[in-house]
Amino acid sequence: MTEPLLSVRDLNAWYGESHALHGIDLDVHQGETVTLLGRNGVGKTTALRAIVGIIRKRSGTIRFDGKDMLRVPLHRTARHGIGYVPEERGIFSTLTVEENLTLPPVIAKGGMTLAEIYQLFPNLEERRRSPGTKLSGGEQQMLAMARILRTGAKLLLLDEPTEGLAPVIIQRIGEVLQTLKQRGMTILLVEQNFRFASKVADRFYVVDHGQVIDHFAVDELPDRMSMLNEALGV
Ligand code: ATP
Repeated sequence: MTEPLLSVRDLNAWYGESHALHGIDLDVHQGETVTLLGRNGVGKTTALRAIVGIIRKRSGTIRFDGKDMLRVPLHRTARHGIGYVPEERGIFSTLTVEENLTLPPVIAKGGMTLAEIYQLFPNLEERRRSPGTKLSGGEQQMLAMARILRTGAKLLLLDEPTEGLAPVIIQRIGEVLQTLKQRGMTILLVEQNFRFASKVADRFYVVDHGQVIDHFAVDELPDRMSMLNEALGV
């Protein structure tokens, strides 16, 4: 088997003295969509933040596209091809949709053009002159994803993209992820919405108390349902 695009081994992370991650191991292969499942507060967001380098107090190994990411400063992570869409979305709310999509420099080769972005997210084109403050939650989520796609990211880290959104918008985001998958995008997703996750993910890791307690492929889901029911209440 080829080397995973992202390979994480024995990842530990701390908030000050508080030890939040206790040795996470996970792999994401090129073209895969992998979901981290787990109850609130178990360390899923922390895992994404440690991978991307927002949390600097970390140890272990993070290899991405053949590089040792523990040595890469946060401001260079995106240049290496890791795109992070945080739960709070991180768009410029006073700027218009189009300004959000054009102002940040396109920092790596292969970023989507504005035309490609508008093809994938037609509603963003309709709203291109609207400021971020006037967008719905779903439009903000799409804009946040679109900004990252502009950067040419090879790996998308998405933290709870469906949180607080209406079912019809969640479905739309699912369609966007399917399109990105068909184009070969690699995605690591944190998701509480199990129904959504089970439709888009190829593999799952279950996180509890800052550790991976199980991992399995989508075709193993039926065998895992009682465990998931107990662990997550799904
Ligand atoms: P949620 O879906 O609620 O965000 P999660 O699984 O993503 O859950 P994390 O946000 O990663 O969980 O939190 C893991 C642990 O780290 C929790 O105990 C949380 O209280 C703690 N924690 C998170 N952020 C901070 C912070 N900025 N400072 C200190 N502790 C934090």
